[in-house]
Amino acid sequence: MTLRLYNTRTRTVEPFAPIAGNTVRMYVCGLTPSAEAHLGHARSFLFFDVLRRYLAHPRNGYDVTYVQNVTDVDDRSIATAAREGTTFDAVIARYYGSFKASMRTLGVREPDLEPYVTQHIDMIVDMIAALVADGFAYATGDGVYFRVKSFPRYGALSHRDVDELLIGARIAENEQKDDPLDFALWKCAKPDEPAWPSPWGLGRPGWHIECSAMSHELLGEPFDIHGGGTDLIFPHHENEIAQSEALLPPQTHMANVWMHGAMLNFDGRKMSKSLGNFEPLSSLLERHDPLAIRLLFLQTGYRKPMNFTEDAIGAATSGVEKLRKAYDALRDASAAASPSADAREAEVANVETLRERFFAALDEDMNTAGALGVLFEAIGVVNAGIAARSVLAALLEEALGVLGVGDILTREVAAAAATSVDPAIVDRLRAALGDVVAINGEGPDGAIARAIDARNAARKARDFALADRVRNALAAEGIVLTDGKDGTTWTVAGG
Ligand SMILES: [Zn+2]
Repeated sequence: MTLRLYNTRTRTVEPFAPIAGNTVRMYVCGLTPSAEAHLGHARSFLFFDVLRRYLAHPRNGYDVTYVQNVTDVDDRSIATAAREGTTFDAVIARYYGSFKASMRTLGVREPDLEPYVTQHIDMIVDMIAALVADGFAYATGDGVYFRVKSFPRYGALSHRDVDELLIGARIAENEQKDDPLDFALWKCAKPDEPAWPSPWGLGRPGWHIECSAMSHELLGEPFDIHGGGTDLIFPHHENEIAQSEALLPPQTHMANVWMHGAMLNFDGRKMSKSLGNFEPLSSLLERHDPLAIRLLFLQTGYRKPMNFTEDAIGAATSGVEKLRKAYDALRDASAAASPSADAREAEVANVETLRERFFAALDEDMNTAGALGVLFEAIGVVNAGIAARSVLAALLEEALGVLGVGDILTREVAAAAATSVDPAIVDRLRAALGDVVAINGEGPDGAIARAIDARNAARKARDFALADRVRNALAAEGIVLTDGKDGTTWTVAGG
């Protein structure tokens, strides 16, 4: 079996092989940290972290170079800085620092190279100059634009037709370009805006050109894998291809494989400030176990659009517990049976089959949902007192390590955290739910139990609005409920 990956460029799942030797060169479009990131932003970085781990795992054994850029100057950071009376780089530093801390909490490994736009202005200017010299770009009074009609393959990645794109397209009043589809490579600075020198006057690069210039500088073309979220396919990645491939020999691609992670919804809707359901990633990570978030994404698969709900994260939280408990049981030597050599051999062979199935799932376009299914199946046999305990424990260590959730196995029992609930939770629950839940003189555990009883009674009475209100009040305290055969249990998120 070899690894096969879905390539957006060809719209097929293809066998993966590096372009040169054993080295895999990856470029993933990074964040524009001009505002708080949310969990939707994190989803594709979490996926590419897993892909990177698997490419480097001995099963593939590739030497991976992972590049992720930082768009550290853009219209929004400049606008925010003007509003707050600060500088654009102070805005970027604040939000990027917060994002990086969240990535660490989520166990996403640092990029090998993390180029900042403002540190690569010279090479960006050089690339724009080459595009102008070759007739692919032109300067106007307000900047430099890429001439889309000069690049016949435009639209190939996103399967869009230039003539159809032109329908309804308009040139904005403040843009001096020849054609509505043309996009900015260089933006001349307005007074008081941050600016760098160029042959076309003081200004800053457009968003798309930075990825073309920095991937060219750090990886060269073609490189192996270009990644991002599906929202970047058009226009961002289409524009990157036009800029980069216009300067390459005919039929040379910028990147061999284009991979895109699907979007994330929250209770059925896109997360946005205007919809009133925006929650910064940093605060969401205070309420939820980061390992459960990773597990939830893995159980969905990277190409499926996903809906994030409190129930889904609750189920993932209990999945984390299941894996950890199974691992503890496997390592409990006193429980080990001592069967015949033949029986043991058969069990070892079974575990080896499970291992093969786990990796076969990953080989099929990173089917992490299928791979995890194999692991849950594997731990289902733990209670049967199998003899090949250490072999199965080793499989869990290896498999969860590849998926970036190996910490599930080594961390302290969540039950310990359950006793460390803030005593003030009693007052807060009484304030939030006092009209529907009688909380009088209980400690934290008792108050939570009262609330859970009230929720279950509401569910029985089919008063789902009340049930949700109680669950949300508990969730706001970081209490995650899991409904099982034997009733409702609770854990502390992130505990
Ligand atoms: Zn990009």
